[in-house]
This record gives sequence, C-alpha cells and structure tokens, in this order.
Amino acid sequence: MAALPQVVIVGGGFAGLAAARRLKKVPCEVTIVDRHNHHVFQPLLYQVATAGLSPGDIASPIRWILRKQPRLRVLLANVEHIDSAARQLILDRGERLRYDYLIVAPGATHSYFGHDEWQATAPGLKTLDDALAMRHRLLLAFEEAEREPNPVLQRRLLSFVIIGGGPTGVEMAGALGEIARQVLRTEFDNVDPAISRILLIEAGPSLLPSFPEQLRESARVALLRLGIVVRTGQAVTKVEKGAVWIGDERIEAHTIIWAAGVAAAPIGKDLGPNLDRAGRVIVEPDLSVPGHPGVFVAGDLASFTHQTGKPLPGVAQVAKQQGKHAAANIARLIAGRQTLPFRYLDPGNMATIGRNAAIADFGFTQVSGYLGWLLWLFVHILFLIGFRNRLSVMMQWAASYLTYQRSVRLITRDP
Ligand SMILES: Cc1cc2nc3c(=O)[nH]c(=O)nc-3n(C[C@H](O)[C@H](O)[C@H](O)COP(=O)(O)OP(=O)(O)OC[C@H]3O[C@@H](n4cnc5c(N)ncnc54)[C@H](O)[C@@H]3O)c2cc1C
Repeated sequence: MAALPQVVIVGGGFAGLAAARRLKKVPCEVTIVDRHNHHVFQPLLYQVATAGLSPGDIASPIRWILRKQPRLRVLLANVEHIDSAARQLILDRGERLRYDYLIVAPGATHSYFGHDEWQATAPGLKTLDDALAMRHRLLLAFEEAEREPNPVLQRRLLSFVIIGGGPTGVEMAGALGEIARQVLRTEFDNVDPAISRILLIEAGPSLLPSFPEQLRESARVALLRLGIVVRTGQAVTKVEKGAVWIGDERIEAHTIIWAAGVAAAPIGKDLGPNLDRAGRVIVEPDLSVPGHPGVFVAGDLASFTHQTGKPLPGVAQVAKQQGKHAAANIARLIAGRQTLPFRYLDPGNMATIGRNAAIADFGFTQVSGYLGWLLWLFVHILFLIGFRNRLSVMMQWAASYLTYQRSVRLITRDP
C-alpha cells in the first residue's frame, strides 16, 4: 500500500488547530509542531495578566485537544527554518522533518518599531509567561507603594503607562483601572490604590481604530469613568526605566506595558520574497505561497486581501477560517482536485473595557454597554476550548462580578 501523504502544521494556535481538525478524516498523516505544549486563548491573556483568571483556564495541552484524532502526532519543538526546496523543516536540535504539504501558522510577535531595546522595560503580552510576568509586576507595584512612606514616591510607584490603544491596550487599561479603583480599594493600610495614575497612549487619532466611531466613543467614555487618562494622536518616542517620552515631554511610568506593534513570526522570511512591510507572507487567493510548492500560510503570518479589497486583520476568526481552508485545500490536492480561493465570513468584532462595559460591532448592528458586555462574556466562554475551562471561567467571572474580587492575585515569583 502507498504511504500516506505527510502533512505538517507549524503552530498549535487558532489556525493550526483548525487545520488539524479539518484533516481528521483526510487520508494523510499529520504532524503538528509547536514550541509550547499548549494552545493559548490569547484574547483572554490580559485576564491572566490582571489576576482575573489562572493560566489553566485559558490554555490546554495540544496533545489533549487533539487526542481523538487518528494518524496525528504532536511534536514539542521550535521550527528554526523551512527548507522548501527539500520540502523539510529544520527543528531546534538540527533534525529535519519531511513534508508533502505544509501549513505554516506560527502567529505573530511584538514589534517595537526598530527599538527592540524597549522590550525589557515595556514588555508585551503574547504568551502565558508574558502574562504571569506582567501580573507579577502589576501586583508588586502596589506592594511596593504600601511599603513606601513618601507620598510622592508612592504616586510614582503607582504610575502605569499602556502604549497602544487597540483592543489589548484598552482591555488592559480597563482591568487595571478596576484593580486600582475597586478591587484593592480597601485592602491597603499605608497607601490608597485609587491614587494610581493609569495612562493609555495611542499614536493614531483614536482608540480602537477597527471599530465604528460611535463604539470608539463609548469605549473612551467607559475608560474615563474608570479614571484612565487617554492620550491619542501622540506617539511614544522613547521608553526608559521609570518613564516614557512623547517628544520633549517626560512622563513618569513605573510600570510600562507594550500593546502597540505586531510583527510577523521570523520563519516567514524563509517563504519570501513575497513579504509585506510587517514581514507577513503575501499568499495567493487559495492561501498557498508562490514559489514554495505544497506550502500554505494561515493566521497572523498570512497577508491576505479580503474580497472587499481591505487587508484582513490579525484576529482569531481570520486564523481559524484560514487554517480550516488551507487544510481543505490540501484535502482537495490529495484527492486530485483543484484548490479553491479563501473567502472570509466576518462574524464581527468585540472588545471589553470592564465590568458592564463592552463594545461589539456586527456590521449590520452595533452594541455597547451592559448588553455588549453580556455578549462579550457569552462569546468568550463559547469559544474557549474544553468544557472544564468554560465552566471554570464562567464560575470565576460570576464570583468576581458578585464580590468585586480578582481571585488570582498571587505574586509567585521572588520579588
Ligand atoms: C493579548 C492578545 C489579545 C488578543 N485579543 C484578541 C481578541 O480579543 N479577538 C481576536 O479575534 N483576536 C485577538 N487577538 C489576536 C489573536 O489571538 C490572533 O490573531 C490569533 O491567535 C492568531 O492565530 P494564529 O494561529 O495565527 O497564531 P497563534 O494563535 O499565535 O498561534 C501560533 C502558535 O505557533 C507557535 N509557534 C510560533 N512560532 C513557532 C516556531 N518557530 N516553532 C514552533 N511553534 C511556533 C506558538 O507557540 C503558538 O502556539 C489577540 C492577541 C493577543 C496577543
């Protein structure tokens, strides 16, 4: 009997998992390679960073998620390079992994716009490790302020700057506002956490540029209610320990969070020369890569222009639909048929600012406030992977809502 075609998927994120699932009944052998052993539900990473949820609530082992799939192997390894001439991947120990068809879905990384030296001072949020490190920094700032006798220095310790006014920046700012003004309000003796100064800086003319004007305004008002200072149309020009600069203005910032730029995963370079300015691979309408036979790209690494002429954003729905479509095209090739072009079905766009405040844009209608927040809760619970995670998140959110508490306020690293 002829050997089955070998399909390799790089990345167990939204695109990679969707692709693996679509290949379940296809006559091929699948290997999914990821440098982490778990899939992370990134839209809720900020909840881990702000002590609302535990890592295990938003992540699950890839092996467990795909355990019922025959002919599928999971490999914990970092893919260093793609040698598409030899149809092989080069892994971190130098070993080579052969493929007949390849789906590349490694997602994105942070971009510091040419200032990688800012990363240590202004870390971003992408992995569970990032979220735990951020939780540590945020909680520690309040503890240090409690020990500090000088009120001026206390205020300095409780100065937070978030750079980037997209959904992640807005969600982080909202959650931090709630921690400072509601959650910790009564627990400290020497400092009032409500004196915290939380500043959200966005270089573009408004927050949440992918949302319609009316929803952006509603988000801005909700942030102001939480005491967040919003500055738009002002680009941070320098980041240093304890401060950020906007031109000549120095702004004190004990804790700085980066939520601004996104860059393509580095292995995209091996699929050149057709890369866009962010380093993403410009794919054909069927998600294949010109000049690299058998290779498809899905998710945040793919640069794809929507049927309306606009580039598709780096969001979970795009990644899921592309992962599934790339796998379906491989199934068609295995069956000796032609591939089909990808068409995106936009289910809408959401962001939350905090308790009772979220915005949702479904194109034909827009929702904000309490109703938007209920929808946001429902959609996020629905899309989490695994019944245990859904139940756990639902219970924790219910408890937080009733008690105004955040249950995972643990400083687990040595200060
Ligand atoms: C903080 C944050 C909040 C977000 N909020 C939202 C939101 O509210 N709504 C929304 O729709 N989208 C949101 N997004 C975007 C969304 O999460 C991404 O668009 C989506 O995860 C992209 O899916 P992907 O499969 O392309 O990549 P990912 O989900 O990032 O998965 C990539 C996988 O590849 C692995 N990997 C990477 N490089 C290698 C390598 N060299 N070798 C082996 N493995 C590798 C990684 O470990 C990872 O598991 C958010 C993203 C972040 C970071």
